[in-house]
Amino acid sequence: TVGCVVMYKGSVAAATSTGGRTNKMCGRIGDTPIIGAGNYAGEYCAISGTGFGEDFVRNVTAYDCHARMKYLEMDIQQAIQSHINESFKPDTGGMIGVDRYGNIGIGMNSSGMYRGWLTSKNKSIGCVAIWDQAIDV
Ligand code: ASP
Repeated sequence: TVGCVVMYKGSVAAATSTGGRTNKMCGRIGDTPIIGAGNYAGEYCAISGTGFGEDFVRNVTAYDCHARMKYLEMDIQQAIQSHINESFKPDTGGMIGVDRYGNIGIGMNSSGMYRGWLTSKNKSIGCVAIWDQAIDV
């Protein structure tokens, strides 16, 4: 997976790309192309995630993080981490996010998630790449 979240002048966007899971069922649609599961951008934040796509779909993960900010007034890091704590099975993935002020949030329960970010006055960019169970072995 490669994912990216961006804030520019108060607007946010997310993009996520993946080849899917190894040995996936023919015709499987993962979390990445489903808005609200592995990818979401709304008024409060943008989220890009990777991991076990089925769980991201079941938990509507990316949208749930946005909803935690909007309705529970969490910050971006709390929204991501609390979702992971409450909804992820052990060692199943992670997320990056950026809020409309440019604050970056990162959370994972897999050690195989590489990430980086840049922030400046009107711009924030966060990127995440490669989630693979094998990396954690
Ligand atoms: N989230 C992807 C999927 O379940 C897998 C991955 O990119 O690691 O399709």
